[in-house]
Amino acid sequence: MELSKSYDPKETEAKIYGFWEESGFFNPDNLPGNRKKAYSVAVPPPNITGELHMGHALNSTVQDILIRKKRLQGFKTLWLPGTDHAGIATQNVVEKLLRKEGKTRFDLGKEKFIERVWEWKKKYGSIILEQFKKMGASMDWSRTRFTMDEDYTLAVKEAFLHYQKKGWIYQGERVISWCTRCQTSLSDLELEYAEEKGKLWHIRYEIKGEPGNHITVATTRPETMLGDTAVAVNPKDERYKSFVGKKAVLPLVKKEIPVIADRTIDPEFGTGALKVTPAHSFVDYEIGLRHGLETVKVIDEKGRISENAPLPYRGLKVAEAREKILKDLEEQNLLAKIEDYSHQIPKCYRCSTTVEAMPSKQWFLKMDELAKMAAVAVKKGKVAFFPKRWEKVYLEWLENIKDWCISRQLWWGHKIPIEGETDVLDTWFSSALWPFATLGWPKATKDLESFYPTCDLFTDKGIINLWVTRMIFSGLEFTKKPPFSRVYINPTVMTKEGQRMSKSLGTGINPVGLIEKYGADAVRFGIAYQVTELQDMRFSEDSIVMGRKFCNKIWNASRFVLLQVGKEEISLPEKMKERGLTASEKNVLKALSKISSSLDKDIETFQFGKACHEAYNSSGTISATFS
Ligand SMILES: [Zn+2]
Repeated sequence: MELSKSYDPKETEAKIYGFWEESGFFNPDNLPGNRKKAYSVAVPPPNITGELHMGHALNSTVQDILIRKKRLQGFKTLWLPGTDHAGIATQNVVEKLLRKEGKTRFDLGKEKFIERVWEWKKKYGSIILEQFKKMGASMDWSRTRFTMDEDYTLAVKEAFLHYQKKGWIYQGERVISWCTRCQTSLSDLELEYAEEKGKLWHIRYEIKGEPGNHITVATTRPETMLGDTAVAVNPKDERYKSFVGKKAVLPLVKKEIPVIADRTIDPEFGTGALKVTPAHSFVDYEIGLRHGLETVKVIDEKGRISENAPLPYRGLKVAEAREKILKDLEEQNLLAKIEDYSHQIPKCYRCSTTVEAMPSKQWFLKMDELAKMAAVAVKKGKVAFFPKRWEKVYLEWLENIKDWCISRQLWWGHKIPIEGETDVLDTWFSSALWPFATLGWPKATKDLESFYPTCDLFTDKGIINLWVTRMIFSGLEFTKKPPFSRVYINPTVMTKEGQRMSKSLGTGINPVGLIEKYGADAVRFGIAYQVTELQDMRFSEDSIVMGRKFCNKIWNASRFVLLQVGKEEISLPEKMKERGLTASEKNVLKALSKISSSLDKDIETFQFGKACHEAYNSSGTISATFS
């Protein structure tokens, strides 16, 4: 075999990837030799709407490093690929396309709409998997899974019915976060907070039977006052002691509401008196529960004022209602003060609409037992996080966990398996089963026996609680085993200046473009070279340029060796064995073996940057030894 004179990744990489695919060795069943020990990794399934970004590039690179190492070391190696149906994300993408045709999903109806989503999926849903191939990922494509495959759907149903049988599934009215655009509930983890320069309005509520005597509340959301059912103060607040137990008259609504004392009220905030709207605030909902307050829902699912409010406000959009209410209050001289006030407001993570808190009937999964199990698994070291500091994030969430709202009012997803129910399950309910449902669970398949539990999980800090935690308790509940023993949280790829990479901000870097420019190996090396234990990676293209030079160096060295070997009928090592090794050859081999075991240790402990530095520097060390 002769290598071309200069290294051209475009010429070489596709050929090599083709060779690997044809060999069938990405599939553990085809690997040569008697491989007893398995090493398996399930790829975090990207959304079918996804396209490769730098985070994926990093995540797949470090996975492939371990997979390829283990494959060479004689493990029965499975790296299982697949995609997630991504309920809300996918539904939004298809809705956007419909909008271009001047239609909504309601024009199509549910059945036709879902057909459209499947069509879309067939056409575009595998783009990201093709991009993984461009990265050189050695995934077993014959085992590609999708969270809405027929078998996977059965697994989801089985899991739901299991929980139901245990009595852990219940329906309840609860204040939840609601996207008035997507028309669905959202979990806490699906909210994104944005800083808003708002106002703090001070509003006078008259004390009943004491004309001229007011208690003044401060609020950022005056429109929710239509649903107030109390005013709360701190019991230690001297200013308000005499008010507690009295009734205030809710302006505009003319309803009498109690003044109550609650320890959680911060006397320093605003006026120290809080208007309590249990229907439209999580904090107020808790206060309402403690004091047995009425819950009056005044904002509806479309983001309009409901018929529980006085006539003049009904049907107005939230923003319109706010304007009218402030005008009316001012006319009645009930607006005491207006302050500038910046605060964080929750937005839908899919469409950025401001999210409303409102009571809604939803399905919940009880978390007590599951959370306990998940915490114990990490505390006892059955699952370990790398870097270890992430265990704290995991455990803290479990300590403060609320029951999981698992229903979503979407059309695209796994329908809740209860007769008459039209809601679908939260996307994370199905992806929580990923490590074992992809291997055939609940059937007792050969794959499940050979490759479960998986070994390592490689993921991002953003989904520790959305996904990792839920996989751990699902694994423990359904298979009695943690689904993996190590969780590696890779750094977040930031720009060189430390900014978040984002397509919409124009700060993103497309890894496919980098591959075109430098070749996949150079990109993989350049990314891995920058991995440290720090939370963020400030990505620099310089390392990729270095990666390309390194590839070139290896290419030239290989070419040199092959040219020497090609001259003889026998291979070089055999020839060397015959005549015995020279002192400098021995030194080279010694240096190589030392570096090789050091790299092995680094990779095994997820020190990818260190491993790259060593490999790069060693190429110099070895040639120095040789001369
Ligand atoms: Zn939304």
